Amino acid sequence: MIGPLADGHEHQTRDVVVIGAGVTGSIVARELARAGCDVLLVERKAFPRRKVCGCCLSARAIRGLETAGLADVVRDLHPIELDRLSLRAARRSVELPMPAGWAVSRSALDLTLLQAAESAGVEVWTEVAATVGECADDRRMVSLVWEDPAAPVVHSERVAARLVVAADGLGHPSTRHVIALSSNHPEGEVSAHSRLGGGCEVSQVPASFVGGAIHMLVGRDGYVGLTQLESGTWNVAAAFDRTAIKQRGGLGQTAANVVLEATGESFDFLIDADWSGTPLLTQAPAQVALERLFLAGDAAGYVEPFTGEGMAGAIESALVVSRLAINAVNDWRSEWIESWTGLHRRLIRQRAWLCRGLAQLLRRPWAVSASIDLLRHWPGLAAPLLRSLNASSDLLNVPAMALATHPDALTQRVTTTDVRTSARRSEGRIRCQ
Ligand SMILES: Cc1cc2nc3c(=O)[nH]c(=O)nc-3n(C[C@H](O)[C@H](O)[C@H](O)COP(=O)(O)OP(=O)(O)OC[C@H]3O[C@@H](n4cnc5c(N)ncnc54)[C@H](O)[C@@H]3O)c2cc1C
Repeated sequence: MIGPLADGHEHQTRDVVVIGAGVTGSIVARELARAGCDVLLVERKAFPRRKVCGCCLSARAIRGLETAGLADVVRDLHPIELDRLSLRAARRSVELPMPAGWAVSRSALDLTLLQAAESAGVEVWTEVAATVGECADDRRMVSLVWEDPAAPVVHSERVAARLVVAADGLGHPSTRHVIALSSNHPEGEVSAHSRLGGGCEVSQVPASFVGGAIHMLVGRDGYVGLTQLESGTWNVAAAFDRTAIKQRGGLGQTAANVVLEATGESFDFLIDADWSGTPLLTQAPAQVALERLFLAGDAAGYVEPFTGEGMAGAIESALVVSRLAINAVNDWRSEWIESWTGLHRRLIRQRAWLCRGLAQLLRRPWAVSASIDLLRHWPGLAAPLLRSLNASSDLLNVPAMALATHPDALTQRVTTTDVRTSARRSEGRIRCQ
């Protein structure tokens, strides 16, 4: 990977600048490069990097990767096959079959997707932080800042883009200063009850925990998810009440307490693990598009919990926004703002209420424990919920040209089309000039 030009250069002009090399950013960048666009992907961290995440790719996420033609490279990472969800609360437990998924570390997954983007012709700059600037002369400006590893000097450069895609994750840091997009704007959302996320990796867990399952432990302070990764280590991801973290004295203490409450087992090794935290989990910007700017993935809004929703949503968001972006790069029109707003709403609408419902349930351990009792007798009751969470968006079947129309004009007729065929069709038809 390479970095920016030295200071003082005339600003460069690009077709597209994509900000953030998570799942969303790398897939958007790759799709646009494959369509012939000149794409710069900017990431503020050095790769590979750790990311707080449950690391579970749901069946829906895997279908999304298949649509993008990326399932094989991820399969080559030897992910652990997941087929069960093990739920524990108040010392009760139930194991439910779930549609086949994968557990794979985010450091390996995100690096692989980034390399796939690079192989498709994307220029990648890492350890460079981007801030979205104003629009001028049919371009959106992006300011880039990076540190010189050899000297305590900070460099900066401005890049002009025909289109910017901010795929910079929770809290959309590269556009947070833009008042029209702020999560604190009356149209935005920072939920007063939002939990904070946390994560770490541990080498061992008690023998009652086995790989191939998502282990979800629910307590009064929040919930903890454990999954074995391809390396054999265990990924821990959690969501906790903010007050609980303060009262217990940190993420590790809170996690150990939740596990003790849920299982009766002592997981003191979690206290000293190397935890990382996240911003507030439930937040959304006031808008997901402005002139020559689209927000996608978690940057466009995120709702707990971590059921495998996140990456599946990110992949679908990346595939849909990139098809729209191919049109928008070549011919910017203000209608694109409305188009992405409508498409994004449609992408998240059907699941937002489900996630909110689950988040509410997970805040009530007594309700989770009652659900466990119910599911032990009638495990089939969970099937409709799991099916709903695993249904792919019908928008994946819509070819790029059709996305150029207003989303409300898209009919339901597209739902049965072969996803891969339509993706190939749209690819062949549209090229950046
Ligand atoms: C506790 C927890 C558990 C979860 N578990 C799961 C799970 O098991 N399964 C699942 O599917 N989803 C899960 N998720 C959700 C999932 O992690 C996200 O939905 C997914 O990572 C979103 O991808 P993204 O590419 O949009 O954002 P991210 O993965 O957050 O990527 C954004 C990237 O942008 C970079 N960036 C940020 N600001 C800048 C800047 N200014 N300039 C340049 N680069 C920048 C960041 O460094 C980062 O690499 C979980 C989330 C949490 C918090």
